[in-house]
Amino acid sequence: MTSVHAYVARSATEPLVPGTVERREVGPKDVRIDIRWAGVCHSDIHTVRGDWGPQPYPLTVGHEIAGVVAEVGSEVTRYRAGDRVGVGCMVGSCGKCAHCQAGDEQYCVEGMIATYAGTDRDGTVTQGGYSTGVVVDEDFVLRIPDAIPFEKAAPLLCAGITTYSPLKRWGAGPGRKVAIVGMGGLGHLAVKFAHAMGAEVTVLSRTLGKREDGLRLGADHYHATSDPETFQALAGRFDLILNTVSAPIDVDAFLGLLAVDGALVNVGAPGEPLDLHVMSLIGGRRSYAGSMIGGIAETQEMLDYCAGHGIAPEVEIIAADQINQAWDRVLASDVRYRFVIDTTTLAA
Ligand code: NAP
Ligand code: ZN
Repeated sequence: MTSVHAYVARSATEPLVPGTVERREVGPKDVRIDIRWAGVCHSDIHTVRGDWGPQPYPLTVGHEIAGVVAEVGSEVTRYRAGDRVGVGCMVGSCGKCAHCQAGDEQYCVEGMIATYAGTDRDGTVTQGGYSTGVVVDEDFVLRIPDAIPFEKAAPLLCAGITTYSPLKRWGAGPGRKVAIVGMGGLGHLAVKFAHAMGAEVTVLSRTLGKREDGLRLGADHYHATSDPETFQALAGRFDLILNTVSAPIDVDAFLGLLAVDGALVNVGAPGEPLDLHVMSLIGGRRSYAGSMIGGIAETQEMLDYCAGHGIAPEVEIIAADQINQAWDRVLASDVRYRFVIDTTTLAA
């Protein structure tokens, strides 16, 4: 075992504190990665604060990891020392079930092994990317194309794939009207992807405060959901609505914005249940769906797509001792648009 520097949650209520986590020795199929950048996802906060249920503390979160390969196991074929690589929300799956075989490892019937707070094969609790190093099976390591600035790569490993995958699956493209609800870490990348895919893109944010940014990132229209007039003016408009909001929304109100056969796809994951009236679906043969990250092959496809289309998140780089303040700012929606930890500051 090797100790690495980390920021650690000791409970649901205390601030994160500097500490260490243990990493296993490099096995034949493992890649040891020196983590260089770690994105801050709202899921990190939901997890530690207990929004999704009890957690195994002490816990280090972070599932948007960009780093450099330091060492590879004897059977590793795809990576070598010095490569720029990424790790997202999962570090293992059974590899045999129909979903794993289809490249949907996130829906593994045995359950994917989450990058943090998951149970690893050896029974230990997985520890995430707010740390200086990690050891991961090569099948769950992604290659970061040279065209993606290194400090902007990490958020693509969760926020990027979580928005790219449903936009592609539900057909964001030319002739399609797509709305993105919430312009935070996921939302701002969704705007970039939907625009690059050729859709007509509308942002639905609570206020018009981020309108200039939204239009600059590729939105064609921008509306405030705090204005009731928005829901009347846009009724029946959209083929696809991607909801990235971290809190409950008025599902019926958003379903009313869908055209016949339209779909509202939830990627936002508040802990509370969301209500809806089935008439909102029946009245337009509409669908309400969900989507979780994306498979490994699709994540690589997304990274290559970003390299080819010049897509990267807007990031704000922080030092380790700013993590707690950054979490408060995420909770206040005061982030433009993803915090990324410079992990060299974890060792200080
Ligand atoms: P984020 O950066 O905090 O963005 C969330 C956005 O939601 C905010 O920017 C804000 O947009 C809006 N919002 C926040 N509180 C709100 C409220 N009370 N009412 C209405 N709107 C509110 O978070 P994120 O990292 O993008 O993550 C968003 C959600 O996706 C989280 O729940 C996260 O856990 C989830 N997630 C899911 C997956 C998956 O696989 N499905 C993967 C990653 C994350 P405006 O200011 O524009 O209104
Ligand atoms: Zn995430």
